[in-house]
Amino acid sequence: MQLYKNQHLRITNSLSGKKEVFKPLSEGHVGMYVCGPTVYSNVHLGNCRTFMSFDMIFRYLRHLGYKVRYVRNITDAGHLEDDAEDGEDKIAKKARLEQLEPMEVVQRYTLDFHNILDKFNFLPPSIEPTATGHIIEQIEIIKEILEKGYAYETNGSVYFDVKKFNETHQYGKLSGRKLEDMIANTRELNAQNEKKSPQDFALWKKAEVQHIMRWPSPWGDGFPGWHLECTAMSTKYLGETFDIHGGGMDLKFPHHECEIAQAEACYDHPPVNYWLHANMLTMNGKKMAKSTGNNILPGEIFTGENMILSKAFSPSVVRFFMMQAHYTSILDLSNDALVASEKGYNRLMEAFEILKFLGTGSKTDFDVVAWKQKCYDAMNDDFNTPILIAHLFDAVRRINLIRDGHETITAEDKNLLQKTMGDFVFEVLGIEQKTSVEDAHTLAGVMKLLIDLRNEARSNKDFATSDKIRDELHTLGIQLKDGNEGTTYSVA
Ligand SMILES: [Zn+2]
Repeated sequence: MQLYKNQHLRITNSLSGKKEVFKPLSEGHVGMYVCGPTVYSNVHLGNCRTFMSFDMIFRYLRHLGYKVRYVRNITDAGHLEDDAEDGEDKIAKKARLEQLEPMEVVQRYTLDFHNILDKFNFLPPSIEPTATGHIIEQIEIIKEILEKGYAYETNGSVYFDVKKFNETHQYGKLSGRKLEDMIANTRELNAQNEKKSPQDFALWKKAEVQHIMRWPSPWGDGFPGWHLECTAMSTKYLGETFDIHGGGMDLKFPHHECEIAQAEACYDHPPVNYWLHANMLTMNGKKMAKSTGNNILPGEIFTGENMILSKAFSPSVVRFFMMQAHYTSILDLSNDALVASEKGYNRLMEAFEILKFLGTGSKTDFDVVAWKQKCYDAMNDDFNTPILIAHLFDAVRRINLIRDGHETITAEDKNLLQKTMGDFVFEVLGIEQKTSVEDAHTLAGVMKLLIDLRNEARSNKDFATSDKIRDELHTLGIQLKDGNEGTTYSVA
């Protein structure tokens, strides 16, 4: 269904700072690129929030009937310590410290990333390219930029000439910075520096002898700059200009600014029509950082093995918690906030169960069609998930009123309510009903209790009770088996 023809989506474009009507380059199709993780450590919860925001956006665009090509890369080379121009490659450093091959580091943390995203019920992107898989494309872009005169080679490295670019283009337009101010605020370059100006950034870095991640190039052995990989991979799969580019707020400058400069220098036109930035996650009111200990990994939340939260929270609850804030707002994680989200999540899931068995009548006491449009209006207003969730809870309140006999609903409206709630909760927000893992965990606990009670009954020679437990479980499809190791069970 081409819902997008009737639903008019507006999104906040970081480039203009305004909400703009979304109009893709090609009707019915959307190209979207999101900067992926640098796979040198376990994925941060803050990064999960960013990727989850774009997963929700991907889901809603698909729900509207767009054919979306969603590209999210894996950075497996070229990202240097502190996002600086000098310093060690993050992956090479980890490989050195742990005495691993760099690609072992990449494999380990790519698997971790996918594993966590699966738990959060992410949809996989259409293409997930890696930086090391696109070295040739990156070299070609550097050649083109050199040819156009916006880059220079020094001692085996190639740098982007920001001053030269700024003579005919505007460097800083995404982040609202002016090159003159940036220059005024930087210290003089020391004599050893290879760059003409401190704002210049590396497109290609010469690999020193000890640098293990290296590729041959027209300028000697080296490795590509971090900003360049995203230009190479986004334009390769989405074209020289595409619809949406997303990422965390912290990538706006310099990463995305440099992407714009590279693409404009290479292709003579802007690469992206809509720039979207997701805001950060804080914890207990403070920035999350490993160095201060104000940090928690997603896996530690799911297992409850941490010193910060009072209990474990399921991925669905954490996802619901994150969807309760607008993607452009700062979100603060705390024990109280997660407990409140868990309550909300449970109420929402209960409402689905109540709805299944809800009796119908000859009239409906609320306008379900108008309610449905309100849900769309919320999402059409820059993916406003908190407002959408407020509307969903309006429906929950109505469902409870109908169950308690205070209001009624027709069969037709009940179907519409069920379908719309399902679409928004499961398809658009990506929330899952209790996972089977949790169900299995609960079942295991209940079964242990029943087996203990049956053993107690048997040792008291109360065979009526012990047989009753066995027979009733049998009718539920659960078989008990008494063996040398005790009693086990199997589910048919
Ligand atoms: Zn990027």
